[in-house]
Amino acid sequence: MNKFWSPIINNLIPYKPGEQPRIKNLIKLNTNENPFGPSIKVINAMLRTINNNLKLYPDPESFSLKKAISKMYKIKISEIFIGNGSDEVLAHSFKAFFKKKLPILFPDITYEFYLTYSKLYNINYILIPLQTNFTININDYLKYKNKIGGIIFANPNAPTGCLLSLKKIKTILNNNLNIVIIIDEAYIDFGGKSAISLIKKYDNLLIIQTFSKSRSLAGLRIGFAIGNSNLILALEKIKNSFNSYPISKIGIAGATASIKDEKYFNKTRLKIIFNREKLKKELIKLNFEILPSMANFIFIRHFKYNSYELFNLLKKNKILIRHFPKNRINNFLRITIGNSFSCNFLIFILKKYIK
Ligand SMILES: *Cc1c(COP(=O)(O)O)cnc(C)c1O
Repeated sequence: MNKFWSPIINNLIPYKPGEQPRIKNLIKLNTNENPFGPSIKVINAMLRTINNNLKLYPDPESFSLKKAISKMYKIKISEIFIGNGSDEVLAHSFKAFFKKKLPILFPDITYEFYLTYSKLYNINYILIPLQTNFTININDYLKYKNKIGGIIFANPNAPTGCLLSLKKIKTILNNNLNIVIIIDEAYIDFGGKSAISLIKKYDNLLIIQTFSKSRSLAGLRIGFAIGNSNLILALEKIKNSFNSYPISKIGIAGATASIKDEKYFNKTRLKIIFNREKLKKELIKLNFEILPSMANFIFIRHFKYNSYELFNLLKKNKILIRHFPKNRINNFLRITIGNSFSCNFLIFILKKYIK
């Protein structure tokens, strides 16, 4: 509390991102970054931009990037919104579609920023508990007819990694045609099927994706939304009332080149899926329970060893993973899928400890 503060500051619950420690040779498996880094084509495109003219403002429409995305997903330019990381796209979306009287719905265990933005914008919300197997029960989202202001969930969900089928998503959509439904597809490229194809039929569906995970550009901060032109128009109005130039020239160049380099994207994406399945097999041998993940991370627990104890064991060995001190999931650990070396080293350390 401070006399200079706006009252809303007191109610905020700021999001706590995973640590970015300044420790040398740390194996960082705590924030779902991609171990492979962007392709050489992406680096070169950014270097060319640096050598070009940074004295000018970037294109406020990020047109080259929108064009590349529109070609990839076979959608219109007017159906794409670009933001400074999907976190910013989410923030604008909460303001554009959820700031109404009625509460929005999201799972009790999901990406923490949904709660953070609800507080920031004073949006009412109802937390819908995940089932005991940590998946979404779609029936929970069908019974609120005209009593809610929106729905948001991540697919695959975070930090569980569990995927909801397009069939179930359609059922949620068909039962909630008068509110905006946002699906956060930050991890969709690791084995799930995107709901982008549904935007033609559902004008209330907004899909949000990011370059931070599957495209290994977390440091660049680019995310985007795809939906009916009317939804995109609302986001553009918010963005242009806030910051007309949220994406740097370097960001536009790098992200555009990344979309065009499909070969590298698929190669690295498939490598992570391969490493995930291999790591799962090894962990099962050590008696871990693993939730079915379609993301670049796994959510695991051990029936005998305390998760915080394992977290500290790994930390001592310079492997950083994520533990959430939160009701229902405090005996789980979230491990980002790294390269083969990190996966092998992780198993090596755990094997020595778990008998
Ligand atoms: C990582 C993540 C984001 C944020 O991505 P940025 O584009 O880096 O801001 C959004 N949603 C979920 C579920 C995430 O895990």
